[in-house]
Parts: sequence; structure tokens; C-alpha cells
Amino acid sequence: MELFPYKPRKNQDAIMQTIKNCLESRRDMVFESGTGSGKTICTLASSLEFALENNKKIIYTTRTNAQQRQVILELRAIRNNNNDIKGEIFGVGIQGRANMCLLARNDPELSKGTSDELSRFCSNEKKKAKSTSKDNGCIYFRNSIDEKKTENIIDWVKNKLPTAEEFIDFCEKKQLCPYELNKQLIHESTIVVCPYIYVFDLMIRNILFDSLSVPENDMILVVDEAHNLPNFIRDLYSSQLSMFILNNCVFEAEKYGDPSMLNGRLTVSGFCKLINDIIRDLRDTYVYGILEGGIRQEPVRKEDAFIPSHEFETEILSRLKITSKTFHDIISDLIAFGEKIQEYRQKEGKLPRSYLHKLGLFLEIWINLETNQHAKLIVDATGGKNPRIEAFCLDPSVGTDIIRDFHSSIHMSGTLEPIEEYRDSLGLIGDCELVSYPSPFPKENRKVLYASDVTTKYSEIIKDEKILNKMKAIVTNICNFFPKNTMVFFPSFNIMSMFRNDKTFNKINRCLFVEEQQMSQSALMELVSDFKDFGNQNGEGAALFSVIGGRISEGMDFPAKQLEIAVIVGIPYPKPTARQRGLQRYYDLKFRKGWEYTVEAPTARKLLQSIGRLIRDENDRGVAVILDKRATRFKRYISDLQESKNLVEDIENFMEK
Ligand code: SF4
Repeated sequence: MELFPYKPRKNQDAIMQTIKNCLESRRDMVFESGTGSGKTICTLASSLEFALENNKKIIYTTRTNAQQRQVILELRAIRNNNNDIKGEIFGVGIQGRANMCLLARNDPELSKGTSDELSRFCSNEKKKAKSTSKDNGCIYFRNSIDEKKTENIIDWVKNKLPTAEEFIDFCEKKQLCPYELNKQLIHESTIVVCPYIYVFDLMIRNILFDSLSVPENDMILVVDEAHNLPNFIRDLYSSQLSMFILNNCVFEAEKYGDPSMLNGRLTVSGFCKLINDIIRDLRDTYVYGILEGGIRQEPVRKEDAFIPSHEFETEILSRLKITSKTFHDIISDLIAFGEKIQEYRQKEGKLPRSYLHKLGLFLEIWINLETNQHAKLIVDATGGKNPRIEAFCLDPSVGTDIIRDFHSSIHMSGTLEPIEEYRDSLGLIGDCELVSYPSPFPKENRKVLYASDVTTKYSEIIKDEKILNKMKAIVTNICNFFPKNTMVFFPSFNIMSMFRNDKTFNKINRCLFVEEQQMSQSALMELVSDFKDFGNQNGEGAALFSVIGGRISEGMDFPAKQLEIAVIVGIPYPKPTARQRGLQRYYDLKFRKGWEYTVEAPTARKLLQSIGRLIRDENDRGVAVILDKRATRFKRYISDLQESKNLVEDIENFMEK
């Protein structure tokens, strides 16, 4: 591999060779290789080499901006190492419009706009800017179409290969629009690094592909941290209607004249209130289990429930005494009224947002749903504050047809096992290469222990409170005994609060950092950075309490002494909600693997992601502890798992070696 800029480590040659073979034979590839094994650089170097030789372009998709930054940094390393073809190695990073639109970044209302709303807003600003009047429309756009002001920009970008953040800052200083300039740069680049949405949302994809101006079969798709993609697509293809939206609909209808419907029998706001009543009644019936006469049937409070397939729309028809044809007319009227409101707001220079438009679109989607691919749910996750109905997408393959159009696709992650699940979920048909590479790091540098006398299994901890007390004592002992940076992952904020309420936090005799549920990204980064400093100083070590499956356990690096002990409290099984049952049943029917694909595999990935924070290179050492006897069920995924009868002693022995 000519372009690879470093001395290849274990497995890296094999990864690059397999990618090369797949690209040459136009096949898709899905591979797992442990965290820190250098997947990004291997994939980048081998796909870039193929792209340059065969005149292809690469769409490199990532979940987070931090991953995107890493790709650009690696691209720079490749270029710095290959001076002879420096000019050909060119790529750009793009982020969502909310980040790249400078008007949106500096305006609290606009920054909350969806990509569709911002796209409409931007079109209008550009139209105004192109009009004859000098001070009209977006100033950044006006500057961006002024050739004198954009002179040398492309040269600067080609020379510097900035990350998306660096490019946005640069444009802000020059008063230019990074989003518009990026369209020109994309056309010239061999690699575009972007969030998943640029490929899996049809509207946004069209904008990207128009700028690229090459057919799909001349593009190679890379999906980084691929284990996130199925859920990402499920979210993208799910729709919700909450009481919050309906209350805004009522407010909006009244503000804009509240037109009447059904020959004056009903107003728009009256219609919204009726939908609100139906959602409340569905919640009372199916989530709270309240029977006629107010008797409560369900002993345990649920978070969500299935609603029979046509109950919501049948209820609307029967309460309004209308036919489905009239219901369709109402939906069309709502959408048309919403569009007028959007135009009106746009003329006022505001975000073209209309809740009534959202309501019309939701109802249209709801009545046309493919019910075998979606579950219809009534959800009350906030204790009655904002119940909603939801069409939850069960099948991510509804959004993956586009993958077949690419020359090839490469999907990778540190935790993908069982790989067949990923392939099946996404519907990657045909000859797809599935490979799992062993960890390149010395086995003896990692120890994974579990305690067999504790569990967070709900039915056991409510029967015997000693179990939870024992876990609290273990966490306190480990944190206090070892002067090492220690992270404790809880299965949920709820379980974490059981430890907090019992004053366990006060018993930790070293600096304790705690992730809070609604913590902003900047506050979280500050917390993590302060925690890392304790490890870097090689002193006392600190403790950090966090939740598994969150922003810390998936995606943050803690090399060397920044993290030496990871304690996982309980097994992070998914909550037994209706949504989860629907998913499991769907996978049972489609693949006969409901439990394995929707419970076991996602739980194993969360465990492995947390354990993976410990070892980032061949010199890292660390010990993980799982406080739950059910850990043995994951031996297939964690082959070095060992029972410990004395955790402190076993950790100490490992540390002393
Ligand atoms: S031209 Fe750029 S800065 Fe102006 S509205 Fe559009 S995206 Fe925003």
C-alpha cells in the first residue's frame, strides 16, 4: 500500500489488502477491528489509492464531528508522506447546515431549525441577495459570489486541508459562507467527509451528489463507527406527534386567523385540540391501563404501548363523523395552510417553521404507513408531561437501497459482532465480505473480571436490598483502594441516582466527577478533561461516574494513565419497552434471531465499547470489572472474561505485574 503513511502494525496490511480486493471486485465489505487498531487510516489509505487510480470519489461518513476531524488529520498525514502526488490528494469535511450556515450559528432561533427549514430560509436569502438591491439577503452569500472576495480560497483550502471547524472559522473571518463555498470544493475533491445524513436522507443526498457531479457507481461509500448506522436510519424513518407540537399548532392556528373546516363545523385549532384529546385517551388506555370508569388496570407504570393499527385514525373519523376522503382533504388543507404560514414567516425574515405543516405531514405519513415495517406506539416517557404517538421504524433496510448504487461500500467498527446482524439489518445483499480482525494489542495488557454474587436484575434487587448494598461497597472499595483513574459506568441515570441518594458518592475518598443527564457538550468535555488531568499527573487518580452507551463510553479516548480501571455496574440490557418488543418480534419473524440481534448483540456492543476505553495502543494496560453474574452470557463476545471472588486482590495482582 503506497499511500499508507506509517509503519503498518499487526493486521493493518491484511485490512488494507482485503479492502483493495473488495474494491477491485466491486464488493461490499463489513469489518470489525478493535478500538485503537487504526481502522480509519487503513480504510482511508487503501480506498484513496483505488480512487486515484480508477477515477472514483469517496464519501466517508461519520457519526460525530470528532470522527470527521480525525479523518481529515489522517488525510493530511497521507498527503505529507506523498509529496509527489500532493496536489491530487484533496478532501473536504462538511457538517450539517445548522453548523455551516453562519447566519444560523449566530442566531438562537435559526440554529434550532431543521435542515429543511434552513434550506428554505437559505434559498430565500440567496434569492434576495441576487436581487438588484445592494443590502438585501445574506451578506455571506453576497460575498461568496463576489469573485474578488473568493480569490485564492480554493488554493488556501487545497494547501491547508482544513477540518470543517477550521474552514468555518476561516470563512467567518472573511465573511464568506462556508456552506456555499464547500459546494465548489466538493466538486474538486476526491474525498468528502460528512455525517451519515448526507447519504441516507434523500433530499440532503441530492444536494451533495449534485455538487459531486459524478454517478453513484463512481463513488465509494465508507461508513465509520458503523454499529450506529441501523439506529440512525431507524430514527430517520420514524415519525412522532407529541402534545408539545399540538399545543404549538393550536397557538399557531389562533395567531394566523384560525380558519374553519368542515363547512364551519370546526376550526383548525379545534381539530388540533381533538387530536390532543385522542392522544391523551390512547395514553390513558394503553400506557396507564385505565379502563372505563377510571379503574387502573396496570400495576406497573409503563413507558409506551402498541396501539392497534388503525385506532388513531378511526377515532378521528368517528369523533368528527367524517369519511376517510374528508380526512384526506383536511390533511391537504393543513399542509397548504402550513405552507402559507411558512411563506409568511419567511417574508418576515424568520425561520420558515410551521407546526401545522408538520402536523399535516405527520398525518399523511401515518395513514400511508407500511405497518409491517413500522410499529405504531403511544409513548409517555416524561411522566405525563409530553405524551406522543410514534411510527417507529423497525427495519433500517428501508433506507439503504442507495448502498447498492455505489461502486462498493466499506463498513467498519470496533464492535460489530455478530457481523451477520449488521449485514442482515441493512439488507446488504450479494457477495459481501465479512471479516473480524483480532485485537492487535498484547492479550496480557487487559483483564476483564466479573463478580458472580451481584446483579442489577430488577426482580432480584427489589427482593433483596443487600445486592445493591454489596455493589455500592465494591464500587467504593475499588475507587478508594487504587490511586488510579477509574471510571464507573451505570446502566442508567436511574441506577446512578440510587447510588447517589444513598450517599455512596460521599464515601469516595478521591476527586469524583459525575456526568449529569442534561449536561451540555462543553460542560461534559470540561469534566472529562479535568478527569484526564488527574491521570496525566500520575498522582492520586480520580473517579468518573458515567452511564454506559453514552457520550463518554462510546467515542472518547483515554490513553495511558488517563484510564486504568473501568467498572461496569450491571448488564446494560435494553429496557423492556413495547418499542423493544416490537423490534425483537420483527427480527424474529424476518431472521428468527430476535433475541440475538436486538438484545444480546446491542448489549455486548455497549459492554465492549466501555471496556474498549481502557486500551488504545500496545503500551496501554487496564482492568475492567463487570458487576453482574449475567456477564457469563457474553463470554462469546468477551473471550478473556474471568470470574473474581476477590476483586480488589485480583485487580491489585494485575496492577503489580
Ligand atoms: S448563504 Fe450561507 S450563510 Fe447565508 S443563509 Fe445560506 S447557508 Fe446561511
